[in-house]
Order: sequence, then structure tokens, then C-alpha cells
Amino acid sequence: SLFTNLQGYSTISEGHEHFIMQLYNRIEDCFERPICSSPDAWFDVVKRVANDNNKIQKRTKNVSRCLNLGSYNYLGFAAFDEYCSPRTIECLKIFSASTCSTRVDGGTITIHTELEEHVAKFVGKPAAIVFGMGYVTNSAVLPVLIGEGGLIISDSLNHSSIVNGARGSGATIRVFQHNKPSHLERVLRENIAEGQPQNHRRWTKIIVVVEGIYSMEGELCKLSEIVAICKKYKAYVYVDEAHSIGAVGKTGKGVCELFGIDTANVDIMMGTFTKSFGSCGGYIAGSKELIEYLKYTCPAHVYAISISPPAAQQIISAIKVLLGEDGSKRGAQKIARLRENSNFFRSELQKMGFDVLGDYDSPVMPIMLYNIAKLPAFSRECLKQNVAVVVVAFPATPLLLARARICISASHSNEDLIKALEVISRVGDLLGIKYLSTTPVEI
Ligand code: PMP
Repeated sequence: SLFTNLQGYSTISEGHEHFIMQLYNRIEDCFERPICSSPDAWFDVVKRVANDNNKIQKRTKNVSRCLNLGSYNYLGFAAFDEYCSPRTIECLKIFSASTCSTRVDGGTITIHTELEEHVAKFVGKPAAIVFGMGYVTNSAVLPVLIGEGGLIISDSLNHSSIVNGARGSGATIRVFQHNKPSHLERVLRENIAEGQPQNHRRWTKIIVVVEGIYSMEGELCKLSEIVAICKKYKAYVYVDEAHSIGAVGKTGKGVCELFGIDTANVDIMMGTFTKSFGSCGGYIAGSKELIEYLKYTCPAHVYAISISPPAAQQIISAIKVLLGEDGSKRGAQKIARLRENSNFFRSELQKMGFDVLGDYDSPVMPIMLYNIAKLPAFSRECLKQNVAVVVVAFPATPLLLARARICISASHSNEDLIKALEVISRVGDLLGIKYLSTTPVEI
């Protein structure tokens, strides 16, 4: 959790930066010793650095300005937007920040139902339900959809919220190798006999859970194959589009649009508003029956606070911009720009010899560092040159697969990207992490 906690920083105060540098320096020190042998040593490192940091934070109020290559602000809606921001502010004036009620206890106001209609229309499903938090959407909805006697087949790299929801459901869980449809089919075959009628199987139902874009890998889901396999074995398809909705597809409608898949083939479409929409919350979109069922049974709808009205307004406005309903072409331009920026950045990194994971069109690009000891130095050297990069390592990744994870935004200018590439290239030379040859191999 040490590393996962650090992943989230985006505003780099001096205290924060100092904390990260200190922490990593100590971790580097630790590497002289066998770190894994003593969990107490880790705890001690964290405690000591946190104490130092508290003192420093009291002294420093300054915030240094960095080019942010770590935020999920894929379309730039999390900054001031000429269409969204005035409406969000107006909504805050009228409705305040909170309804102070659950959805069923008077916490549903027109903006919530309006939002659900917009989401359903945007993603291409008959109905949608929204929740105050993306994480909770997965962790609270899965246990309502399936329970004991059911089977969840989950991609091995699915997000923690999915893992949490799957475990909480009481269903049997099987994991298939990351983004490998052939292995998914093997797992299905091992668990049910092909052609067996659904009501003769030993599972009440089977749900296959995948992500549209994998946030630590930058990879696009092989959805066409997965959908075909699920059809063959009569399993429901659940896709978490946290990182793909708004980010891929010609009009930002996610992986179905990108791969030309009819949304009727995906039974449960999940997504969050914390990335492309610059807001917060999550959604499930599906059939009218599914959504009606969730409204009466999902604890996160019945017992939890409704999504903040200004956050809801922000999402509605962002969707309107994406659909061109604001009367401009900005939405289409943003999506095209994100794609251009991402593909340009990825190809430049590859040309420099970096080992970059993921697919073209994905705004998430992990640069492999492998050696965990290079992680703090990478982050520190980039920060020194005012580029903020999120670095990720064990336990969020396997021990030997440490990486820096770049997230590209439509609001990065050409100059921003060129500056970032120059900085990353220099740091790459310094640390010896351009692992791939850039000269063609002669045969
Ligand atoms: N699903 C995925 C795939 C995610 O990456 C995340 C968070 N980044 C979530 C769900 C949880 O969403 P939120 O941060 O909006 O709560």
C-alpha cells in the first residue's frame, strides 16, 4: 500500500516532493539490505519519513509547478472549461455540494435522473444508474449481481475494486491470464461442458469481468474475442470502462465504439466519471430490468449518499460537449487530440528505445524500468526538471516489473509533449533505461 498510496499524488508541494524523495532514498538504502525479510523495517522507514515530512509541511507552503504526466484528466475537463465550469458553479449555488440524503431517502433530484438518461444515451444502453464513487460501483454492484453458486471469471490484472466486489459476492472466482481470450476459453471449458444447457450447469450464472483499458498496462481489452467466447459459453460480459470511456472510440464512447462491437453484446457496462469527465462517481449501464433491479437492491444506491449535484452537472455538461450539444466541435476535437497526443508520445518513446507497454490509441503508457531501485531516481530526476510522473512498483506490480506510468491528456500542448520527451530522454540516458535497440537488426 505504500506504493499505491504514492501513486495518487498530482499536486506536488515541496513537502510532498521531499517526502517522496526521502522515502525512496530510504528504500534505496534498504536495498543494500534484504528488505523483504523484515516488514518492520518497512514500517519504520515509512514512520520516520512521515514524521520528517510533517515537520517540513508545516514549514513549506509553496507549490512548485510541474507538467503533470500522471493525471487521468484525459480530456482536460478537470481544468476550467468554458462550457462545463460555469454550469457546475451555478449548480453548486443552487443545490450546494451535497443532498445530505441517500438516493431513496429524498436524495434524488432531477439532476440525478437527467444524468442517468445522459449516461445511458452516451454509452448506448437502455438505462443507467449512477453512484457517488467509481470504486464503490464495482465493489457494491458485483455482490448484488451474483452470489454463492455463481462463477466470476476475472482478468488477472483487474482493478482492486473488481477484486473486492468479486470477493464480497461469495461467488466462486476463477482468474484468467491477462487479456488472453484463449485462456479465458480454457477456464470456461474447465468449468462447464460446451453445449450443456444453461439450466443443467452447476453455476447459477457466470460473469466474465474485464477492463476496457488496463490502467497499469495501457492495454486495450481484446473485447471482440471475449464477447464471442462469452456468447458461446453463455456467460455475461461485464466491462469496466474507467479508463476507456471518453478516451477511445471515434466519439469517445469507449471500447465498443473503437472495435465496432454492438453494445448489446456487453451485458453490464461499468465506468467512472473520475477520468475523462473531470468529475467523480461511477455508473452501471445495461438493460432497463438490470438497472431497475440495482435501484432496489444495491446498498450503494439505497444506503449511500447520492452523487454530489455539481459533480453530476459537470458530467452532464462534459457529455454534452462530447456529443456536440454545446453547439461547438470541441468534443470531437478533444477526442481526436487525445488520440494524436497519445500516439505521438508513444511512438517517440519507442523511437528513443524505451520499453513501453500498451497499445496505440491508449492514453496510458507505462515505461518499463524493471529495476525497482531506478524508480525513485526516475521520479526525482523528472521532478527536478518540473515533470511529474507517477512511478509504480511492488506490490501494485510484480516485484521485477517496476514502471513509470505516463497518462496523456488532450490538453497537453505540442510544446508540453516535446518538453516531456526531452526530459524523459535525458533521464532515460542517465539511468540506462533505454533497454531496446533503436538500430535495425541486420539479417
Ligand atoms: N476501475 C478501474 C479500472 C480503475 O482504474 C479505478 C480507479 N482508477 C476504479 C475502477 C475506481 O474508480 P474511482 O477512482 O473513480 O473511484
